[in-house]
Amino acid sequence: MSRAWLIGAGPGDVELLTLKAARTLALADVVLVDDLVNPEVLQFARGDAQIVHVGKRGGQQSTPQSEIVATMLDHLRAGRSVARLKGGDPFVFGRGGEEQQALQAAGIHVEIISGITAGIAAPAAVGIPVTHRDHAQGVIFVTGHGAGEHEADWRALAATHMTLVIYMGMRRLNEIVDALLRAGMPPDTPCAAIESATRPEQRHVRATLSEFVQRVAQAQLGSPSIVVIGGVASLAAPVDAMLKP
Ligand code: SAH
Repeated sequence: MSRAWLIGAGPGDVELLTLKAARTLALADVVLVDDLVNPEVLQFARGDAQIVHVGKRGGQQSTPQSEIVATMLDHLRAGRSVARLKGGDPFVFGRGGEEQQALQAAGIHVEIISGITAGIAAPAAVGIPVTHRDHAQGVIFVTGHGAGEHEADWRALAATHMTLVIYMGMRRLNEIVDALLRAGMPPDTPCAAIESATRPEQRHVRATLSEFVQRVAQAQLGSPSIVVIGGVASLAAPVDAMLKP
């Protein structure tokens, strides 16, 4: 019988893929893979597996969600097992929930294989723990992508004094930082942005909230990056300390 899996590929470093993900990939006849996934992960797929790339990067042309689901259904109905490989964790800003619902609506059970999400791994890669007894009682994962009615309530988030970990936050960083400052978040709040975390090209910036936007622009940090705002960001390694020989 054909099987369907939603698999988290982790943040980038292929060694951060779970054993279960690697073992399951080897069972798939078809692998549908997102842009953010490190292609090295595909070494665990079978040599004869069909690999389908589906773009999903913010701002760029991406394969419509309905088309991705339709492709999966076609293969499954033809008796082929399908692995849907997503960056990080499939259920954290990965639209994995939507794909699960669509497959379930078609009567297909989908197995979920968790991955290490960028919101934890990217801060960790520069020495930032997302919680720390001296700094934050909790952590909030939030998308910076929403605007208008989908905009997060930054004032409410600032009032929690918890670590803010922002996915897809780079394009609207200016607006987000403005909203937090207007909400009364102290201008000296530590911040960090980590680009391409756990990959060889990883870079990061640390700065206070008031200088953050300018420093990120100076360093020309872009996507994919995780933004961390809160006391824990003060634990980030100095940028120079991370330079590779
Ligand atoms: N499901 C993924 C998130 C998908 S949303 C996960 O759990 O990690 C895409 C966003 O994730 C990017 O815009 C960026 O904010 C973040 N991201 C993914 N991989 C990253 C990486 N290696 N370094 C920094 N940010 C990353």
